Amino acid sequence: MVKVDGSGGQSSLIQVRDLDKTYSRGGQPIDVLQGLNLDVSQGEFVAFMGPSGSGKTTLLNLLGGLDVPTRGSITVAGDEITHMSSSKLTEWRARHVGFIFQMYNLIPVLTAYQNVELPLLLTKLSKAERRAHVETVLSIVGLADRMHHFPRQLSGGQEQRVTIARAIVSDPTFLLCDEPTGDLDRKSADEVMALLEELVATHHKTVLMVTHDPLVAARAQTTLHLEKGVLVEGKKYSGEIAAGGGA
Ligand code: ADP
Ligand code: MG
Repeated sequence: MVKVDGSGGQSSLIQVRDLDKTYSRGGQPIDVLQGLNLDVSQGEFVAFMGPSGSGKTTLLNLLGGLDVPTRGSITVAGDEITHMSSSKLTEWRARHVGFIFQMYNLIPVLTAYQNVELPLLLTKLSKAERRAHVETVLSIVGLADRMHHFPRQLSGGQEQRVTIARAIVSDPTFLLCDEPTGDLDRKSADEVMALLEELVATHHKTVLMVTHDPLVAARAQTTLHLEKGVLVEGKKYSGEIAAGGGA
């Protein structure tokens, strides 16, 4: 279940209520999100679309606890993250969120294996346990035979699949992907999307993804459009707000 009108019940994995985010630039307020609501159940695959500058990245950063809203609440699996201290939030993020960005953000001097192992170094897992987890996720993403390669020895699509392995290795509650195929050719983009679909279908992951590519968005179960600070379902909203839209 995915809802944008604030009517979702207690069963929502992610519950966003009346979310505002206002930046200020040169003393001028910039209202990016304005009363945004969202409910997402576990196992959903949601795509967010919207014009450049509409606040897609802002929304993902808020959902991932990388930034704090001006107003409103975000609750994930019963934890309201909007009032957590920054140290609590860091802990929450490590436990619950897997991030996948457009730029792969792999560490160039570490192998694929070592990049994926990185988040586990913060846990109490033994070396053998870490190895088991890393090998499992590298085989899920189809790179078991590349684990000792360095990022420069991999294609863009393979690098992005290492990033996905790193994002899922600690078994997070949900994945946030910001333009995950933005730097990839069509074939690599298809491979990355097939992998995200498999994570949802087979591994029951919850995936929230920003994309500007309609072919990529079509792979998700639900597409939501960000317009004038709120989310709108289905077809692009072409409302009759003539004046005062504040865009
Ligand atoms: P999108 O990802 O949809 O392109 P963003 O969320 O990056 O949009 O940005 C939404 C709006 O907020 C833009 O007008 C952007 O310039 C502004 N913005 C984003 N981050 C900041 C910031 N840290 N300070 C001031 N303005 C920001
Ligand atoms: Mg963006």
